[in-house]
Amino acid sequence: MIIVMKPRATEKSIERVVKKIEKTGMRVHVSKGTERTIIGAIGDERLLQQQQLRSTEGVEKVMSVLKPYRLASREFHPENTIIDVGGVKIGGKKLVVMAGPCSVENRKQIITTAKLVKKTGVEILRGGAFKPRTSPYDFQGLGEDGLKLLAEARKLTGLKIVTEVMETEDVALVARYADILQIGARNMQNFKLLKAVGKIDKPILLKRGMSATLKEFLMSAEYIMSEGNHKVILCERGIRTFVEYTRNTLDLNIVPAIKKLSHLPVIVDPSHGTGEYEFVIPMSKAAIACGADGLMIEVHPNPEEAASDGDQSLIPKRFENLMREIKPIAKAVKRDM
Ligand code: PEP
Ligand code: MN
Repeated sequence: MIIVMKPRATEKSIERVVKKIEKTGMRVHVSKGTERTIIGAIGDERLLQQQQLRSTEGVEKVMSVLKPYRLASREFHPENTIIDVGGVKIGGKKLVVMAGPCSVENRKQIITTAKLVKKTGVEILRGGAFKPRTSPYDFQGLGEDGLKLLAEARKLTGLKIVTEVMETEDVALVARYADILQIGARNMQNFKLLKAVGKIDKPILLKRGMSATLKEFLMSAEYIMSEGNHKVILCERGIRTFVEYTRNTLDLNIVPAIKKLSHLPVIVDPSHGTGEYEFVIPMSKAAIACGADGLMIEVHPNPEEAASDGDQSLIPKRFENLMREIKPIAKAVKRDM
């Protein structure tokens, strides 16, 4: 249930509404916007006397949330959420680019890549230390050694780090090193893992499952948020369709659809979305044009020798081109870079 307060409702009246909700045992979430405060009540709505709330001083209206996702819905939080990652803001006017190799392979590879992407204006370094691979015989990642290398790259460049966590048991470990924890497409509905990252105080990059509907995607965000962690960044990374000329089908329709239904920031990953380096620049431009808050791009100093996803990784020169070529698109849609 949502309680919309009047534009000039006092702190005291807000407090009174919160107390009334708490008394029923429902959970309360207060969202203070620039215009007005919106109070969310989560739990069994039958416990609340809507009429009593409606007549409380400062209350403008009381509404039931019709969507199954509540905390993630725009009804609950009409303004865009901006997530602050140690000073880097995701979801604001400025676009954010996350770039780096698919996997952290060795010191030289990750440090070289970090320095290269930093020079082009990137603020967040990506790199997997725990890799979800289709084959058990493929490179599975360096584990904690990979996380240590990422931390070293951060120290040298000042870049923030985003890296995947695959298991509930590793959440604390990954959270010690990462600035943003990534939940991969294959784990989008690993509800135990979602609940575990919902209990920490670090931003989460939630990738869309390869066959997830928009509703399922937002429900997974809701899992994280319902545990108390509201810092969720959504990431479209392509879905499975009948199309066979690309690895996945980048579903850019979902960007405006998410913006309509949710307040959470959206990042687009055209590397996994297409699977081919040649398509990464055009789809990056398209992503920005349709309202994405940023990009996640795989970059490798020598893609031919990459331990994973070489086909879709950009060489540094091409990545420089990407950063230059998206600027006029950003300007056209009134975003800063
Ligand atoms: C990745 O980011 O390297 C990755 C494995 O992504 P996804 O979960 O989208 O496949
Ligand atoms: Mn990858």
